[in-house]
Amino acid sequence: MSDNNQRTIVVGGGMSGLTAAVYLARAGHDVLLLEKNKECGGLLSSFSRDGFTFDAGARAILNAGIVRPMLKELEIELEMVDSPVSIGVENDVINLDVETILDDYRHLLERLYPESISDIEKIISKIERSFKDMAILYGIDNPYFRDMKKDRSFLLKEVLPWMGKFMFALRRMNKNNEPVESHLEKLTSNQSLIDIIAQHFFRETPTAFALGYFYTYTDYRYPRGGTGELPRAMVRKILELNGEIKTETEIIEVNPSEKTVRASDGNTYSFDHLIWSADLKTLYRILDTNGLDEDVTHEISERKESLLSKRGCESVYTMFVGVDMPLESFRSISNGHFFYTPLKTGLNETHTSELDSLIENFDSVPKKQVLQWLDRYFQLTTYEISIPALRNPELSPEGKTGLVISTLFEYDLIKKIKDALWYDEFRAEVENRMLDNLSNSIYPGLKDKVVFKASSTPLSIESVVGSSEGAIVGWSYKSPVPVVSELRKMGSAVKTPIPDVYQAGQWAYSPAGLPTAILTGWHAAQNAMKAKR
Ligand SMILES: Cc1cc2nc3c(=O)[nH]c(=O)nc-3n(C[C@H](O)[C@H](O)[C@H](O)COP(=O)(O)OP(=O)(O)OC[C@H]3O[C@@H](n4cnc5c(N)ncnc54)[C@H](O)[C@@H]3O)c2cc1C
Repeated sequence: MSDNNQRTIVVGGGMSGLTAAVYLARAGHDVLLLEKNKECGGLLSSFSRDGFTFDAGARAILNAGIVRPMLKELEIELEMVDSPVSIGVENDVINLDVETILDDYRHLLERLYPESISDIEKIISKIERSFKDMAILYGIDNPYFRDMKKDRSFLLKEVLPWMGKFMFALRRMNKNNEPVESHLEKLTSNQSLIDIIAQHFFRETPTAFALGYFYTYTDYRYPRGGTGELPRAMVRKILELNGEIKTETEIIEVNPSEKTVRASDGNTYSFDHLIWSADLKTLYRILDTNGLDEDVTHEISERKESLLSKRGCESVYTMFVGVDMPLESFRSISNGHFFYTPLKTGLNETHTSELDSLIENFDSVPKKQVLQWLDRYFQLTTYEISIPALRNPELSPEGKTGLVISTLFEYDLIKKIKDALWYDEFRAEVENRMLDNLSNSIYPGLKDKVVFKASSTPLSIESVVGSSEGAIVGWSYKSPVPVVSELRKMGSAVKTPIPDVYQAGQWAYSPAGLPTAILTGWHAAQNAMKAKR
């Protein structure tokens, strides 16, 4: 233990908060993590029902040169197995392998769109560039999680030769940040081809990040007991290092001049430094600026206005299904992490102008018309299908299989449906459409074998983890993001205009996801430690 008795409070027990807390505790600092739910993990969690284990958040863990070295540095034992990905369109499925992914993907596209072979060539060469850049970015253990003073050979043999390549990759990626849809439009006029690639991602995802995903598809791992095992292991480590965690503690007021946070149960906690690792709009909404200097208050109010005017990214609709079908029926079709599109037509206007118009005119649109749009959307969309037991057979009862089936879904539409009082009916309509479309395509007979099903919507995500607009990876790309979005500036992304308060997590930097959550948590902890020194 160091003799540093200043207290850091971390609000939010998702992966960013857990990372911040574990590094503070490891350095001997007094740290208290406050989490609103019963369990930590936030958007990374697993749950069990009737002998099936399901992942409610990310379906697998992206290593990104971060997770494995971090676990090793922290001496956390967590058994992880391979988590290979498959991509399928109609009845054509490819299993992705790092060596052959680009050729296999090209052949898949050529079989689907033989009329666009020369455009596909151009697209694949762009994907190859982004793939290589992402491989550079994530290809070695992140130096933050290796002690380079002790490990000179890592520094000399890996980091130094990598630095030059990294700087070039970074420069290319920063230049390549136009929305993926418009980038693809320059390479082909075949709208279905554009859609079949782009609808895997959030609308207007920066090109380098979207096309770089073809590398990340090959970089997933799966903790034996489900993705929720990662936050559980982090919790155990924090406690072992004498950090303190209080769950079921929702913070409803932050007072930086008094240096306190107040929980919904009335308890108040004092801090010297605060790391806010939860939804950023919430922080600025519950901030009490009384007692702060006028210029600080002014800066905070400008920041607040900017953040509150922006939106979270699209969310997801997820169905958890237990089916009376053996694992083998699914193993013969795909790997346990499967991106599947039932029709090669592509979403096109269904997911752009038609959806926008439906939301804008919702009050005057008859329910029947909304249901017709749902018909089209669920026929044309891309599904992310996760089958935990294909990574570890113990995660489903013998002879049965659990599936997590999800697709991107717009928060505003479901919010309006809830306000119009047909939320439960809507969920049943969606579940039926999901099951019908998959039964009529890749999984014949699936819907007749369902033992149970349950859904989570963008509204569930918003209420469970307090994520604005049910966002699963922070800010929407549809308008300029209000946070740092340049990798080499990530260290400064954790600073706020609020005295002694840092921010971490998917809202602190864009583009976000698990790697961002961990890295910003790490940076926030370093900043808090430095401030104490
Ligand atoms: C379906 C799905 C698929 C995904 N797939 C991927 C993927 O393939 N690759 C990838 O990189 N990422 C993926 N992600 C995203 C990734 O899981 C998240 O970006 C990351 O886990 C966010 O971590 P975080 O700590 O920033 O935020 P969160 O996980 O949201 O943690 C915030 C925590 O703060 C708590 N909290 C909120 N408000 C308060 C309050 N007032 N007081 C106290 N506690 C509070 C919440 O309960 C929560 O535990 C996916 C997410 C989902 C849901």
